[in-house]
Amino acid sequence: MEPTESAPATSNITVLRGEPLVVISDVDKHYGDLHVLKKINAVVNRGEVVVVIGPSGSGKSTLCRAINRLETIDAGVITIDGVKLPAEGKALAKLRADVGMVFQAFNLFAHKTVLENVTLGPIKVRGLSKAEAEKKAMVLLERVGVANQAKKMPAQLSGGQQQRVAIARALAMDPKVILLDEPTSALDPEMINEVLEVMINLANDGMTMIVVTHEMGFARRAADRVIFMAEGEIVEETTPEQFFTNPQSSRAKDFLSKIL
Ligand code: ADP
Ligand code: MG
Repeated sequence: MEPTESAPATSNITVLRGEPLVVISDVDKHYGDLHVLKKINAVVNRGEVVVVIGPSGSGKSTLCRAINRLETIDAGVITIDGVKLPAEGKALAKLRADVGMVFQAFNLFAHKTVLENVTLGPIKVRGLSKAEAEKKAMVLLERVGVANQAKKMPAQLSGGQQQRVAIARALAMDPKVILLDEPTSALDPEMINEVLEVMINLANDGMTMIVVTHEMGFARRAADRVIFMAEGEIVEETTPEQFFTNPQSSRAKDFLSKIL
């Protein structure tokens, strides 16, 4: 999809919400001989929830990491709210703060309390006082249902609680967009729903989200669009309803027959 155009004709989306917030143009990346992202073009508009789905190894995580510049790209341009991703330095730190990130494996700081995990970024990067940051953190921990765990260390929490803290930590930076890369796939089954509920609430609050997940229930309830990736390409881009009930490409059909 071209950055300024609406979804392709095969999609039944005719109007995209908001203005473009994340614009990915002709992004290419190799790892050695492996062509991991092949001329990716995608736009995420303000307030949109986009679910990225696809087989393991299709480049989903690489794309997420490129959006936050945790990975370099070989060619193409990524802009966040009109600003091209800077290569390094203060400008990069500032831009990264606009892009919240939640990973599959809980990546909380193990030697900091839950509260410290959520206050660290706002104090260091956003310049909040400790008191301001703590007040804000408690509101966010309340919102994700773990305020009563604030004084504990991450290891004392369940996986689902840790992942909710990771979401609160991302939100504490007031990001413009939040990326969640398989946020529930490392969780025990009974903890998946508590994290999905938090994500659905965020979506309902109008947060711009890019979510790599195979959770069809989440996609159906919260996603505006599904992007299906395979072998480094965007193969299909449509509504969750259309994608799950009537996938167009053979690769999507094949993938869905394996996960559903
Ligand atoms: P996905 O998230 O869709 O499973 P990834 O983006 O993690 O896919 O990986 C895409 C491909 O790139 C895979 O074949 C993977 O093995 C490879 N890959 C990922 N990271 C690296 C790396 N740092 N070095 C070399 N190859 C990598
Ligand atoms: Mg991945």
